[in-house]
Amino acid sequence: MTFDELDLCDELKKAVAKQGYTEPSPIQAQAIPLVLAGRDVMGSAQTGTGKTAAFTLPLLHRLMAGGRPKGPYPRALVLTPTRELAAQVAQSIDTYGTLLPLKSAVVFGGVGIQPQISKLRKGVDVLIATPGRLLDLCQQGEADLGHIEILVLDEADRMLDMGFLPDIRRVIKQLPGKRQNLLFSATFSREIQTLAQKLLHNPAKVEVAARNTAAERVEQRVYPCAKAQKRDLLTKIIDGNNWYQALVFTRTKHGADRLAKQLNRADIDAVAIHGDKSQGARTRALAKFKDGGVRVLVATDIAARGLDIDRLPHVVNYELPNVPEDYVHRIGRTGRAGEAGEAVSLVCADERSQLKAIEKLLGSSIPVVRVEGFEQEKHASPPVERGGGRGGARPGSGGGGGGKIRDGEPGFAV
Ligand code: AMP
Repeated sequence: MTFDELDLCDELKKAVAKQGYTEPSPIQAQAIPLVLAGRDVMGSAQTGTGKTAAFTLPLLHRLMAGGRPKGPYPRALVLTPTRELAAQVAQSIDTYGTLLPLKSAVVFGGVGIQPQISKLRKGVDVLIATPGRLLDLCQQGEADLGHIEILVLDEADRMLDMGFLPDIRRVIKQLPGKRQNLLFSATFSREIQTLAQKLLHNPAKVEVAARNTAAERVEQRVYPCAKAQKRDLLTKIIDGNNWYQALVFTRTKHGADRLAKQLNRADIDAVAIHGDKSQGARTRALAKFKDGGVRVLVATDIAARGLDIDRLPHVVNYELPNVPEDYVHRIGRTGRAGEAGEAVSLVCADERSQLKAIEKLLGSSIPVVRVEGFEQEKHASPPVERGGGRGGARPGSGGGGGGKIRDGEPGFAV
């Protein structure tokens, strides 16, 4: 299928061609005709599948087809869980709508509200927002949602995880009853299905890529090591392999800051990005990382949500996430669009149960790489020994010999 076969207006087709896209991704091929036909859509797709264009392109087309804007009020609303994702959706709207006379604005917290108010007063067609700031603007009488024709909930699962359900309900109350609803989510938990039932009218379901597709695309490795040695092992892996760009995940904001400082001390340029940093600081850090100005971006899960970094070669789990699905989200940042990607996890004895849960979700075990001189600490409960190369932590095994990296032992006793 080509973009020409989709019923999008010429301005949108030209903008797509300018991006160099030759054919619609599977979610685009499925969702675009349904959205164009005015259907409510429930889409299951992760970041990296092209889902943003899957809703942005037909949304812009429908706004144009609905005649020129009648007033200064927004006619389409995209809700996202994070500021980063909001900014990226806004960027996509700008990119794809570049030849159209439609105006958009993005509003989120953590930055001054006044410029957002000024922009809204001038009139916008598409509003992209995180729920909290949007409600503030509504309360101040600066955002009128009474003319919304299309509502998009992007990464709805994440919005619920972050406790936005009450805010979403409040926003929905302000919308006209008659409208088109699109809901995108990486997973479909019971909560999402309940929300979808209330929100969507006879939705068409669009599903691409089972949950573990990222896992299949990305080369994954587990490096067992002691907790206290993680920093040294990470330095060794980055330097030893000449990595020029890696996204490293930590569990806490404090941990992210500390690790970035430690890497800098080891002469590896690193910055941390997390929810406590100002929007300006986060944007600058991300820009620097994308430009190659820093080699390592250290991030927490929430801060990294929605980050779109083209051709990101390496993702590191400095600490495993507690929720196995987060592992899939994390490694999905690499290996996009058919590029080779690598995801490395540094796993200490305390994290064995998380690793076990992740491997269960993936349906396969992750190959283990042992680096001499780096071993897991002994654990309070004895490690489970299994035969056939599933060695787990055997303190002292393979010691000596200059830190050579042995690759690709399958399986890891957890
Ligand atoms: P998303 O899943 O929306 O975060 O998009 C992931 C990446 O794929 C973005 O960098 C897009 O620019 C890119 N992309 C979107 N649609 C296409 C397409 N049809 N062909 C190639 N790349 C695309």
